[in-house]
Formats: sequence, C-alpha cells, structure tokens
Amino acid sequence: MRALVIVLLTLIPFVAPPVADAQTPLRIMAIGAHPDDCDIRAAGVAAKWAALGHKVRFVAVTNGDAGHQTEGGGALAARRRAEAQEAARRIGVEYVVLDNHDGELLPTVDVRMQIIRQIRQWNADLVLAPRPNDYHPDHRYTGVLVQDAAYMVVVPNVATDTPALRKNPVFMYFQDGFQRPNPFTPDVAVSIDDVIDKKIDMLDAHVSQFYEWLPWVAGNLDTVPKGAAERKQWLRKERATEPTPAVRAALVKWYGPAKGKDIRNAEAFEICEYGTRPDEAMLRKLFPFLPKAE
Ligand SMILES: [Zn+2]
Repeated sequence: MRALVIVLLTLIPFVAPPVADAQTPLRIMAIGAHPDDCDIRAAGVAAKWAALGHKVRFVAVTNGDAGHQTEGGGALAARRRAEAQEAARRIGVEYVVLDNHDGELLPTVDVRMQIIRQIRQWNADLVLAPRPNDYHPDHRYTGVLVQDAAYMVVVPNVATDTPALRKNPVFMYFQDGFQRPNPFTPDVAVSIDDVIDKKIDMLDAHVSQFYEWLPWVAGNLDTVPKGAAERKQWLRKERATEPTPAVRAALVKWYGPAKGKDIRNAEAFEICEYGTRPDEAMLRKLFPFLPKAE
C-alpha cells in the first residue's frame, strides 16, 4: 500500500506553488501614510490602470489631521478626506482614509489588522507601499505595517472577521531618495508623460497640502499664485523632476534606449521580498501599459 501511494504521488504532475495570477480587471492597492502620499508616488500609473478599466484603491493609513499650519483636528481630517475623494474622482480610482491620527502612527497589531483587512477586502493583485526607511515616522511605520501584513493576509487565523486571501499579492515599494541602509532599486519604471496632466490634476485637489501646508513648511508660501489656473501651473513646475540615473536605466531597460532616454516623467517601483515574487511575465501582466517585449 505504501509503495502504491509513493508511486501515485510520483505520478502527480508538478504543481506550481500558489503564485498569484493576475485577475482581470487587475485589482491594485496603494497604501500611504497621509491622504496625498499615494498620489505623489503613483497617481500616474493609477491613471493608466484606471483608463484601461482596472480597479485601483488608494488607502491613507492616517487621516492627515496634523498636516496644516493653522488648521487641525477633526475639521482638518474632514477637509482632507474630501480632498482625497475629489482627487480620486478626477482620475477614476477609489480612496479610503483610515481614522488614525497623523504624526502619531505606530506599527501596532491594531493598525496591522486594519491593513490586513484592507488588502483582503480589495483582494489585491498588487500592493504598493513606502519602504520603511523614510524620514517621516508615519511613512516609515506605514512601510513596516505593510511588510507586517504581507504574509498575514493569507493566514486565516489572523483577523478572522475578514476571509484570508488564497493568493499572496505582489508587494512593491514606491520610489524614494533615501540612501541608507540601501538606495531604492527600480525594478519597474513607467513613463507617465502621457498622464502627467492627470497626475497634476489629482495633486491639485489636495488644496490644503500643495498650496498651503507644503509651501509653508518649505518657506515659499508667498510664491503660490492666487488664481486656480496659475497655481496649477506653479504646481506643475514645482513637481517637475528628472528621473534619477537608476530610474533612467530602468526606463531604458523597459522602453529601449531611444524611447527610454526621452521620457521626462516617470514613476518607479521596487519588488518587495515578501508576498509573491513576480517574474518578468507577471510584471508585464501587472503593468499592462509597458511596451511589449521585443
Ligand atoms: Zn506623507
């Protein structure tokens, strides 16, 4: 009998591990600390996914109630929630703002459970989040929280009120400029030249941030024009950044040398070691707007 079982087992064809195959439409989740973080790092790709009919949800882990020089508390949280909804409406994605205090985020089990539930409810194919080595504690702990959730989303005995995923999503990091302990390594870089107006339009919805709080922190509040069209123009200039050499190299890899060198605006992402590790074919499924392989 034992011999028969062994024979039968050897006859079972090789079964691949439960690597997440991408759904149609794709289900993408970006997770940031504040109600504008995902927009800064991924509005361009979000606009591209949305235009192709894929489903994108942005999640802010805090309500942003500390992000202003003269406003705060519940009134600011309500204002920022409305700005996030308007930003999402402008590019055709969803926006969820969790009710944790801005500036006080910690990687607790409670917040980890909130994030596990978000990823499960969205049934995400791909989750984008910050690396956990940012200057801002909320950003840093959002990175830790998503890392801590990356495996737990498939464990049924954790957060038992929300069914566990059977397939682990792919996790990728937003681009950042931090060098220690190691610099951001772009595995995928996407040209957003064709959607840069949409991205600026999305950022423009966060009036309390891009025209009030961030210029106040930077000490250039007096340079923000008063008129709606003028300040949007100003925002576009403020946000114009050349791809870094590493992102440029990734653009050349994905788009070829001629096109890759001409791209002015890009968003880039690094594969996280946790969750499903995508191969190139999977990355092409997840980022369907990348040019076809030669
Ligand atoms: Zn932030």
